[in-house]
Amino acid sequence: MSKKFIPLSVPNLKGKELDYITHAIETEWVSTGGPYVKEFEEKVAEYVKVCGAVSCQNGTSGLHIALQICGVTREDEVIVPTLTFIAAVNPVKYIGAEPVFMDCDDSLTMDADKLLEFCQKECSFKSGKLINNKTKKHIKAVLIVHVFGNMADMEKIMSIADMYNLKVVEDATESIGTYYTEGKYKNKYSGTIGNVGVYSFNGNKIITTGGGGMIVTNDMELLNKAKHLTTQAKSDELYYTHDEIGYNYRMTNLQAALGLAQLEQLESFINIKKENYNFYKENIQDIKGLSLICFKDNIRSNYWFYALECSKEYPLNRDEIIKHLSSNNIQSRPIWGLISDQKPYLSSQTYKIEKAKYYIENVVNIPCSTNLTKEDLLNVVDCLKKPQ
Ligand SMILES: *Cc1c(COP(=O)(O)O)cnc(C)c1O
Repeated sequence: MSKKFIPLSVPNLKGKELDYITHAIETEWVSTGGPYVKEFEEKVAEYVKVCGAVSCQNGTSGLHIALQICGVTREDEVIVPTLTFIAAVNPVKYIGAEPVFMDCDDSLTMDADKLLEFCQKECSFKSGKLINNKTKKHIKAVLIVHVFGNMADMEKIMSIADMYNLKVVEDATESIGTYYTEGKYKNKYSGTIGNVGVYSFNGNKIITTGGGGMIVTNDMELLNKAKHLTTQAKSDELYYTHDEIGYNYRMTNLQAALGLAQLEQLESFINIKKENYNFYKENIQDIKGLSLICFKDNIRSNYWFYALECSKEYPLNRDEIIKHLSSNNIQSRPIWGLISDQKPYLSSQTYKIEKAKYYIENVVNIPCSTNLTKEDLLNVVDCLKKPQ
């Protein structure tokens, strides 16, 4: 008998999704004008405690706008991580700016010490601008990704940004719900610490609108700019005058209907993900050569994605683990290829990429959906215990 298929990460739509979607259809508000869009923006802003939010079509478009409202132009450079999903970095190129790739630390997020070292040793700070010594270009911003629901070291990163007059864009597409439980940013949510943050509601994220995203900030001016740019930069509603090049990036009422229903369940999803993470962790710690990468102690993580680190002591390497799980009908995957190794970025500048190289070779993501059963979890653990 073939075993039940266990996917890596799938949506959980057992709340009020159908009710709200039905309402949207019955009232015939299916496009960007419906009431759910504004309501979803307000609810997200309230949840992460910021003064406002602007919806968009997906996380990628949100990041495009975030960089633009931070003033990044084609003349500029942006410091970005190399270990993450490529959608975090492509928007830098949409604008025509250049990325400079940074290494990760053991939390898989950007290494803040290397970031500082790069600014000190490879750049000059002249009349309030950080200039890259190699290219003579102005580094205007740093883009941080809170990988898998962990939190990058925002205390260090914000102090570096302060020192060198850098804007901070937080790619919080994977980390909605993660917040600090202690320290300078206690009770601050990921995405709300830098100048602008972006969430994603893609199908594989912790909550989903099919496709969708949200820009958040506490700066009203930036918020207004974001709204303007995502809605075709219309400066007059009646006469259709446009004062700059805008985009058709606004979320639809149908997406927002899903989003509202999903947001109501976010805390319960986080609880389930935390339980499942702890179950895996306890059961995997006895397996020689395997361990789960930790979420930091000073945060409440959203526990979105689980990263299994496989050392040489385990009889199978990364690819063999993926194959072994797959032959047992369990989906897993390597974490991404480094972005600085991808064809469009081969000539981009990198700074001492070391740990990221190790982690891409030695980490496997294992099933993390909120609808996993105890049996599914046991199944995954059993497979890892019997590598034959
Ligand atoms: C999912 C994701 C994005 C893009 O979000 P979409 O909604 O799929 O466009 C960007 N960055 C990271 C790190 C992501 O995981």
